[in-house]
Amino acid sequence: MTTPTNAETPAEILAAARRDHAALVERGLSLNLTRGKPSARQLDLSADLLSLPGDRHTAADGTDCRNYAGAPQGLLELREIFADLLQVPVEQLIAAGNASLELMHDCLAGAFLGTLPGAEGRWADAERVAFLCPAPGYDRHFTLCERFGIEMIPVPMTDQGPDMDVVERLVSSDAGVKGIWCVPKYSNPDGVSYSDETVQRLASMETAAPDFRIFWDNAYAVHHLTDEEVEIADLLAACAESGNPDRAFVFGSTSKVTFAGAGVAFLGSSPANVRWYLERAGARSIGPDKINQLRHALFLKDAEGVRAHMRGHRELLQPKFEAVERILSKQLAGTGLATWSTPKGGYFVRLDVLDGCAREVVRRAAEAGIALTPAGATHPYGEDPQDRTIRIAPSFPELDALEEAIEGLAVCVRLVGAEKLVA
Ligand code: PLP
Repeated sequence: MTTPTNAETPAEILAAARRDHAALVERGLSLNLTRGKPSARQLDLSADLLSLPGDRHTAADGTDCRNYAGAPQGLLELREIFADLLQVPVEQLIAAGNASLELMHDCLAGAFLGTLPGAEGRWADAERVAFLCPAPGYDRHFTLCERFGIEMIPVPMTDQGPDMDVVERLVSSDAGVKGIWCVPKYSNPDGVSYSDETVQRLASMETAAPDFRIFWDNAYAVHHLTDEEVEIADLLAACAESGNPDRAFVFGSTSKVTFAGAGVAFLGSSPANVRWYLERAGARSIGPDKINQLRHALFLKDAEGVRAHMRGHRELLQPKFEAVERILSKQLAGTGLATWSTPKGGYFVRLDVLDGCAREVVRRAAEAGIALTPAGATHPYGEDPQDRTIRIAPSFPELDALEEAIEGLAVCVRLVGAEKLVA
């Protein structure tokens, strides 16, 4: 592969990039960088779960986990393991089904069809329901909004979290703004962790809607990639101290701790919100899968057990994230064609190319057999106004395939960038 030197003219750089891309297409690769899911080797770390709970079927309090009755809030021993990790008092933490996304869906459904604590009525009867969507963000949050007819208002992300001046202005002036999506630690896709000041301002800001809710999706609470294990401020405590105890719904799950889609999801909130949720959940289901919860409690043992288990994930993931950083630096640093995040945790790298180039980079990569998440998916309505951001998911491919894919991606960034600069 040719690396541009200062001596080359833009036309020469473009000609070289075209040659590199043609050679890349010629190779007929089939690589995939779209999947934000654990690799098989990561899943192997939890293999023992498959033979648990063995012939044991009673919870610590004697509940027979094989039967309907008991533990509507989830097994206490599992909630005790995750309470501190998710910054939720154990009595305010619910252990539920297999997906936190389901809990987010159910909180929205409950707000539309019932009345949230502090609300004047159902959201279904409100003139307008809008959510603030820090962007780039997680596409499934945006899908939920579309499904419920919730208007999405993009808010720029900073390296401290959402731009709080914008957030405060919007929530204080518009009673139709009922919520905000937040991925507060190692955010998807840019790996940002919210500063203490951001958390404090979210907890204490004046909102025109009395039933405003923060959907605090702490999906990557324990998913560190470096020795610096980032801690964020405790939102639930900050809300309570600010006189807004019912403002936050905290979500988490073991999807990227144990088995993706076969783990346990958690919801934490104020006592009033927890009662509200459990009352609705009791109509929807007789109770959660206690056997799966027992299996998880026996496997993870305690909070230190979770931390130790996550160090195993880190060992497998860190070389992949380092490879992305190394290759992007080698191929693109100093070209002015791209910037990218170097996350300290989570599952994604954010790559920003020249304005107006992201869709074309994704298209050129597809031509070369490298599948990328569609440009725009990181923004509400699939529209990245600057057509700039691409989400890279390094976890799933094997290291050599990942390296090949990132090298190929860099070729596409150089090609599309050079085309733009020469045009
Ligand atoms: N929230 C975020 C920010 C995610 O990135 C993901 C999965 O990629 C999820 C939630 C899904 O979690 P679950 O499997 O618990 O529904």
